[in-house]
Amino acid sequence: MKVQFWGAAQTVTGSMHLVHHQGKQILLDCGLYQGKRKVAFQKNRELPFAGDKIDAVILSHAHIDHSGNLPSLIKSGFKGPIFSTSATRDLASVMLLDSAKIQKYDVRYVNKKRKLNGQTLFEPLYKQQHAVQTLRRFRTIEYDHLFDVLPGVQARFHFAGHMLGAAVVELNLANENDSSAKPTRLVFSGDIGRDGMPILRDPQTVEGADYVIMEATYGNRHHEERADARQSLKELTHQAFNEGGKLIIPAFSVGRTQEIVYRLNQLAEAGELPEIDVFIDSPLAVNATDIFREHVECYDDEMIDAILTEDDEDPLSFERINYVRSIDGSKALNHRKKPCVIISASGMCEGGRILHHLKNNIENPTTTILFAGYQAPHTLGRILLDGNLEKVRIYGEEYTVRAKVSKLEGSSGHGDQGDLLEWAAETCKRGNVKGIALVHCEEDSATAFAAELKKRKLGPVLIPAPGDEMAMDG
Ligand SMILES: [Zn+2]
Ligand SMILES: [Zn+2]
Repeated sequence: MKVQFWGAAQTVTGSMHLVHHQGKQILLDCGLYQGKRKVAFQKNRELPFAGDKIDAVILSHAHIDHSGNLPSLIKSGFKGPIFSTSATRDLASVMLLDSAKIQKYDVRYVNKKRKLNGQTLFEPLYKQQHAVQTLRRFRTIEYDHLFDVLPGVQARFHFAGHMLGAAVVELNLANENDSSAKPTRLVFSGDIGRDGMPILRDPQTVEGADYVIMEATYGNRHHEERADARQSLKELTHQAFNEGGKLIIPAFSVGRTQEIVYRLNQLAEAGELPEIDVFIDSPLAVNATDIFREHVECYDDEMIDAILTEDDEDPLSFERINYVRSIDGSKALNHRKKPCVIISASGMCEGGRILHHLKNNIENPTTTILFAGYQAPHTLGRILLDGNLEKVRIYGEEYTVRAKVSKLEGSSGHGDQGDLLEWAAETCKRGNVKGIALVHCEEDSATAFAAELKKRKLGPVLIPAPGDEMAMDG
């Protein structure tokens, strides 16, 4: 019995861990690796195992770094079930189709250069039909229900508080020699949110883990105690309004966008938002928002109260909000003279409509670029946020950064060091933990967090490299 770490191992993206049990293989997540284009291109194409050797997949949540390479698994012969919550399946349906579209455009860009150099052309990583085939394999299970994955393997989803549908996965693996013995409990955190996130219920904890695979994205960070995302949004919208500028928010279409809209709606309700138009410029965000509206089971009390209030039946919409689907609608924003808020994707400024808005507004000092989520190394988002460069390249052209750059504190979908430590302690409670593998983190986060776990006598701790294994008793 063992787990092998193939993705999000000593890096943040491409979550993918393989559980070996009684000759069967269960894959936890099958995410896309995101990073430097060349590396990503190769990594995502070469799965470290054949799809037809995998018996089942359990998907923690729909973020593309966890779900985005499932169609490649299907392409390589996977025929088993993919277990997830229903909200995750619904979000995956729009996200995987969107991802197939991005793969098409990505390969077009690569092939343009290869054609000029007389090289053979690439196929896209996967096509729309593979995304559709992936969706046919989903089996949805709601939170808190124990279900059979394979003979001798049961699982349960717990609320992760990270994004709509996100789950912590509890796996109970029958003893390989003695089926009457207590099963081995492996807990996979997926991505761990935190208490008090807008819209979502707070994370639940699982106890009695024998082995843990946990994320440590912010294992070395403390989120600012009193950081108030709502207050920052209030100040920045007023600033944009007074300066006649644009507030541009690069945000993931799924999750972060809805949280920001929810907070803007709260401001509007309280009469604290200036008369400024808000544009959600992302077709994916529009579709995802519809899915958010359907999954009441994931809401916290505040959100439920909000939908039950007669004068605010839709907390994800208000008078000044405009959802933009069409390309023409998106282009029209370039010519807009009035101040406005534009929320667009991708969240790390790696592609998508946000690049056009940056290109058109980054040289204007009345523009504010507000980052609302984690920015991976080498992405344009990270470069802008670090603020080390006066000039940046967008679509091959150089632009001087005159816009103000800001970060929305208190908006992270990931717990900080304190949250993660608390989660680890709870998960190991009433158990006999024999291994904690830290994944989904950069090196400095992992080492700092490992030291904290050791101080609390939680471990042994492992920071696996791709291909490393954690053997499990039982
Ligand atoms: Zn996530
Ligand atoms: Zn993630």
